[in-house]
Amino acid sequence: MKIICIGRNYTEHAKEMNAAVPTEPVFFLKPDTAIIKDNQPFYYPDFSKEIHHEVELVLKINKPGKNIELLFANKYYDEIGIGIDFTARDIQAKCKEKGLPWEKAKAFDGSAPIGKFIDKKKIADLNNLNFNLKINGSTVQIGNSKDLLFSFDTVIAYVSKFITLKTGDLIYTGTPEGVGPVKIGDKLEASIENESLLAFEIK
Ligand code: MG
Repeated sequence: MKIICIGRNYTEHAKEMNAAVPTEPVFFLKPDTAIIKDNQPFYYPDFSKEIHHEVELVLKINKPGKNIELLFANKYYDEIGIGIDFTARDIQAKCKEKGLPWEKAKAFDGSAPIGKFIDKKKIADLNNLNFNLKINGSTVQIGNSKDLLFSFDTVIAYVSKFITLKTGDLIYTGTPEGVGPVKIGDKLEASIENESLLAFEIK
C-alpha cells in the first residue's frame, strides 16, 4: 500500500507556512514504512530537531481506481480515520530553500501514525466533520472538513489521474492551522467529533 498526502489543503495552514494557496491539489507520497498502528509510540528521530505535528482526516481506499470521475469518487472509500503527518520542519525548510524533494522531511519511518477508522455511513455530513489534536490534554489543532480547499472527492479524482489507487491505500487530506513541534514525553490524542481514535506517546 501507499500513503498519499495532500499539502496546503486548508487556507489558514497555507498562510501560517507563508505558502501560496494552491489552485489545484498538491500531493506527495509516504511509503508503508511510515505507518504506525495500534497507538504504538513514535520514536523521535536523531536527524531532526524540529518534528511538527499535522493532524489530518484520512480516507481508506476500498477498491482500485484510475482516472476516477468526480461524480463516482465517493464510491472509493467507506471509512474515514485520523492520522498525523509528522514533518521534520527543519529539514523541509532546507529542501524548500534548495528546491529539493521533501521525502527526507516527510516520508521517514514512523511519520504517519494512523488511528481507528469510522464507517462513513455513521457520519451525518462528510463536509462538516470536526476533528482535533490534543497534546498532554491541551487542544493544539482544530479542523473541520468544510474548510478543505479541495474536497475528499476532488482529491481522489485528481490524484487518480496520475497514480492508480489501490485497495488499502491511505489519503491524508491535509492539516488545518496550528501545526507545531512535539517533544519526547508528549502524549498526543486525535479525535473526530470528540471520539478519540488515536492516542500515542513520543519517545
Ligand atoms: Mg500534511
